Amino acid sequence: MAQKLAAGNWKMNGTSASLAEIDAMLAAYPSPNCGILICPPATLLERMSRRIGDGPIATGAQDCHAAASGAHTGDTSAGMIKDAGGAYVIVGHSERRTDHGETDAIVRAKAEAAVGAGLVAIVCVGETETQRDEGVTLDVIGTQLAGSIPDNVTGVTLVVAYEPVWAIGTGRIPTIDQIVEVHDFIRARLVERFGGDVGTTVSLLYGGSVKPSNAAEIFAVGNVDGALVGGASLKAADFGAIIDALQDA
Ligand code: PEP
Repeated sequence: MAQKLAAGNWKMNGTSASLAEIDAMLAAYPSPNCGILICPPATLLERMSRRIGDGPIATGAQDCHAAASGAHTGDTSAGMIKDAGGAYVIVGHSERRTDHGETDAIVRAKAEAAVGAGLVAIVCVGETETQRDEGVTLDVIGTQLAGSIPDNVTGVTLVVAYEPVWAIGTGRIPTIDQIVEVHDFIRARLVERFGGDVGTTVSLLYGGSVKPSNAAEIFAVGNVDGALVGGASLKAADFGAIIDALQDA
C-alpha cells in the first residue's frame, strides 16, 4: 500500500521566524498516522531539519542539480540536501519547468541523482489549461511520466505529484472526476512500467490549490495518497487542517 503523505512546498517563502510554524506542527502532531513533509527554501533546510531532530516531520528540498558536485553556481546537489538533513526533493515542479526551462530529460536526471543519493524524489507532472482544453491531458501526463521518471526508483523512493498547472496558486481545482481519471491513469502507467509491487506502492499526490475546505473530498479519491501543498502549507493552522483530513481519509 502507498504511504499517505501531506507535503508542503514553501517555495521562495520563509525566513528564520517561519521556523515557529514547525514548532507548532511538532506540538500538534507528535505521532501522526500519515507522513508529513515540509520543503522549505534551501536557506532553512538545515536549521529546520536540526530543529525537528528525530521528530515525525520530514524535510526536503524544492530542487536539486543532477551532478554530484562541480562548477554549477547557485545549484545544490542531492548529496548536499541529504547532508543538510533532507530526505526528499521535489523535481520537475511546473515553476521550475517554466522559469528554468527544465525538460523531462533534465527532470529525469535530477530524479535519478536524488534516488542515487538516498533521497525520495517527488516527480511533478501536470497539464496546462490549454492542453486540458485541447483534450490532450492524458497524452501530456503520459509523456511526462515516461520522460521524467528514471529507472532506478522503487515504491518508496518515488512519489508522483499530479499538479495541473492551471490549478497552482489560482484557487481553482479540477473536478473530482478529472482527478480520478488522471490519478488512475498515473497508477496504471506505473504498474505497467515497474510492475505491481512497485507501481502500487508509489504515493500519488494531488497538488494545486489544496485547502482545508477541499482537502477531504480530494483525499476520498481512491488513488490519491495525499497532497503537495503550496500556499496553505505556510501556516501550521492551515496545513494542520489538511493533515487532519488526510489522517481521517
Ligand atoms: C505547488 O506549488 O506545488 C502548489 C500546489 O501550490 P498551491 O497549493 O499554492 O496551489
